Amino acid sequence: MASVFKRDDFPMLQKKGLIYLDSAATSLKPSKVIDTMTQFYQNSYATVHRGAYTLSQEATQRYNQVRDQVRDFIGAPSSDEIVFTRGTTEGLNLIAQCYPIEAGDEIVISGQEHHSNIVPWQLVCARKGAHLKVIPLTASGEIDLEKFHTLLSPRTKLVSIAHVSNVLGIVNPIEEMIQASHKRGAHVVLDAAQSAVHLPLDVQTLDCDFLVFSSHKLYGPTGVGVLYGKKDLLQKMPPYQGGGDMIQKVTFEKTTYQDPPLRFEAGTPMIAEAIGLGAALEYIESHLREEIIQHEESLIQLALKNLPKEAQVLGPKEHRTSLITFHIPGAHPLDIATLLDLKGIALRSGHLCAQPLLNHFGLTSALRLSVAPYNTEDEILYFAEMLQAVLHKIS
Ligand code: PMP
Repeated sequence: MASVFKRDDFPMLQKKGLIYLDSAATSLKPSKVIDTMTQFYQNSYATVHRGAYTLSQEATQRYNQVRDQVRDFIGAPSSDEIVFTRGTTEGLNLIAQCYPIEAGDEIVISGQEHHSNIVPWQLVCARKGAHLKVIPLTASGEIDLEKFHTLLSPRTKLVSIAHVSNVLGIVNPIEEMIQASHKRGAHVVLDAAQSAVHLPLDVQTLDCDFLVFSSHKLYGPTGVGVLYGKKDLLQKMPPYQGGGDMIQKVTFEKTTYQDPPLRFEAGTPMIAEAIGLGAALEYIESHLREEIIQHEESLIQLALKNLPKEAQVLGPKEHRTSLITFHIPGAHPLDIATLLDLKGIALRSGHLCAQPLLNHFGLTSALRLSVAPYNTEDEILYFAEMLQAVLHKIS
């Protein structure tokens, strides 16, 4: 089976001998994205929201058009609900710092979370005297829904959950979690860092209150990301940072702020990167989502079938998107990844920014293979063959 994305579209894939299996960390970029950004820098570059001159007005228009594209990509009712951030991490920090949290309030996360969805809440809890509650996981690493329901209390303000785990690749039961949280009066943040690129998202159907993701995982540039928030919630939140663009009027006595989203975008924004994100969304949307999902799932099934028998895969094998995390007892992940690198294979090793989840499995380090629509069956089979060879060498 050929790849769904044309390999010729990706300059990095023209590098001889590179087998890129780390798209969950960051994806490769199609020429469309690179060229759009280069063209912008070469022919159309100017600042946004400030200049009366044509170039600046055109740049502003393009920047705002991407906001509309993102709105449509996630099914948001209004572009005013789309805040550009530097990425998922900044989006989560923004909510943690600006959402009204008081002493005694409770914030619920799960034992599966990426460090970006743990540490910002620890910081805010320490500052405000709030409490972080962690939903325990089942033995296979899934969110224990029964325990989740008992954790919710009248003091629960926010529930912040990964839509898709960056370690297990599984889709969490967010619909049920959102409904239950709302019944208790809590708002829900979805960390869509891993899901935005694989699953169709519709924030209105999901009814999440906030959703965050990064451009660089969906074939766009680094340095830009998205925070979606329901309008009434964003409206009630104070600014995240102060500076140019986020104000209505500044005097030494009193400053007034713009409405969202500009209230949360202080300073000259990442203009070219946002425009690059727009090109990435167009690129994704020029392909059929069903084909992408099917291709990634079949590559994952092929990888699972061809992993060496000693490999222990973390998490359940069902409901997987596009990644597998595994370890091989007696062989250090770093050694394996280093030896595979000599064969041209880029594979993630380490704690995967989820130390508590790895601890749950009694591990401090693991290997993660992740695929994208530019990967092929041949690459997976080559990886499996090379992994066998590496194991043979170090055993
Ligand atoms: N959450 C999850 C589930 C992730 O996979 C990642 C990226 N590894 C992040 C948050 C953080 O994303 P970024 O580093 O792009 O801010």
